[in-house]
Amino acid sequence: MFMIGQGENVVAVGPPEPQHCPRCDQVRDFEPQFAYKYGRFDLLFGFVYGRRYQLACPVCHHGWRLDTREAERLYGRPDIPFRLRYGLVILLGAFAALGAASLAMPPTG
Ligand SMILES: [Zn+2]
Repeated sequence: MFMIGQGENVVAVGPPEPQHCPRCDQVRDFEPQFAYKYGRFDLLFGFVYGRRYQLACPVCHHGWRLDTREAERLYGRPDIPFRLRYGLVILLGAFAALGAASLAMPPTG
C-alpha cells in the first residue's frame, strides 16, 4: 500500500549577511536559504518541486527571493536527499523494468 506525504524543507546555504529588515526596521543577520517542497510515495520515492532561494530575517522571517542562477553561483547547489532528487526517476525505472519483464515473460494459462 502506498503512503503519500509531502513537506517543505529549508536549508541554510551560506553565512548570514547583515541586511536592513523593513519589517523589524533594524539590521539583522539575514540567512541565505534554499527552500523546496517535496512529495513522497511510500517513504521511499519522492520528487522535488517549488525550489527557491531566499534571504530571510531570523527574527520575523520577512524575506525576499533570490535569483536562482545568481544564488547557485554564490552558494553552490544545495544537497537534496538522493531519494527525493532521483526518486521519481528510480520509480519510473522500476515500473519500466517490471513492464519489460512482464513482456518478456507473458503469463501462461
Ligand atoms: Zn525582520
